[in-house]
Amino acid sequence: FAPWENADEKPLIEFQNVTKRFGDFTAIDNLNLQIYEREFFALLGPSGCGKTTLMRMLAGFETPTEGTILLGGQDMAPIPPNKRATNMMFQSYALFPHLSVADNIAFGLKRDGIPKADIDARVDEMIRLVQLGQFAKRKPHQISGGQRQRVALARSLAKAPKLLLLDEPLGALDKKLRQETQFELMDIQEKTGTTFVIVTHDQEEAMTVASRVAVMDHGKLIQVDTPAGIYENPNSTYVADFIGDVNILEGHAAKSDAGCQITWAEGQPAINSNCGTDLSGKVHFAIRPEKITVSADKPTDKPNVLQGKVHDIAYLGNISTYHVRLSNGQIIKAQSANNRRLSRRSFTWEDDVYLSFTDTAGVVLAE
Ligand code: ATP
Repeated sequence: FAPWENADEKPLIEFQNVTKRFGDFTAIDNLNLQIYEREFFALLGPSGCGKTTLMRMLAGFETPTEGTILLGGQDMAPIPPNKRATNMMFQSYALFPHLSVADNIAFGLKRDGIPKADIDARVDEMIRLVQLGQFAKRKPHQISGGQRQRVALARSLAKAPKLLLLDEPLGALDKKLRQETQFELMDIQEKTGTTFVIVTHDQEEAMTVASRVAVMDHGKLIQVDTPAGIYENPNSTYVADFIGDVNILEGHAAKSDAGCQITWAEGQPAINSNCGTDLSGKVHFAIRPEKITVSADKPTDKPNVLQGKVHDIAYLGNISTYHVRLSNGQIIKAQSANNRRLSRRSFTWEDDVYLSFTDTAGVVLAE
């Protein structure tokens, strides 16, 4: 009988009160985290927040100053990197230039003294997995960057690790290829059932590939949740601001019949929102631009309506982002879908517009 209720949430990795110091600098600060079996987990955060340090501790290249890291319930402290059921794929790929694609993939298996027939079968399987059949005999310089990335992936999966650590695995690819490769990565992760932990600077990438995302700051986990959870229900202005575009308004909350009311700027109507349980006093109200409707006529069906003038417009094809200036000078970002068939009218500079949103469109945050 497992202590976890959902079989998908069997922890493969557990950080228990893990701290890592370099001299008197604390890179990881008393961190607790579980990463589940077969999960695709992403670490996000600004430069220097400790993502790489966390990965290096998992791989065994760094040891925690305090606390314990368990892999499959076993304390990793005494186990050297090469004896761990983990592998790490670096951004540089580090392929051997003089070896063919197949020999690069076979390298770790040969070093382990595995019988040749078994190696050949495994290399074939890996080449099929990453769809590099016709390139098996080529050298790394004879294939494209995207193909090299796949060779590196195949090589790091050849020994069937339980955990694969990916440090900016797609950093060297251009945007389009990067987006295509994200889907391949997800596909391969699912097929192999290996737990993937990815570090990326690209928040869209993290949201695309990962089943859960951790947002870090100064060696601490600020929020760990599904991509939708992080986006829709950020627990702080830090997370709201780090992921996607957002308006953050400062105000004071007071309970009202409908939930709560936030007074926030002289001359602007109070915002009606469904605040958290006992939030009152100084708060922040965070609302995504796409949750705000822009209209020429005053809406009558929304609990929140602000009035302003179009200050700036960014046309992005499928959507337009409007910067709307309120009477107090504050700029609010609103987004609307461009859909000609609905003949939704678009706006131009200095148009008088109304911004409206429901009482569940934003989140009220203490900090
Ligand atoms: P980036 O996104 O830029 O790679 P990161 O989030 O991966 O950053 P880390 O590389 O984990 O950040 O570093 C976290 C902090 O620890 C940084 O301030 C870094 O300078 C410091 N640090 C990392 N390794 C060492 C070390 N060996 N000695 C001293 N300080 C270190």
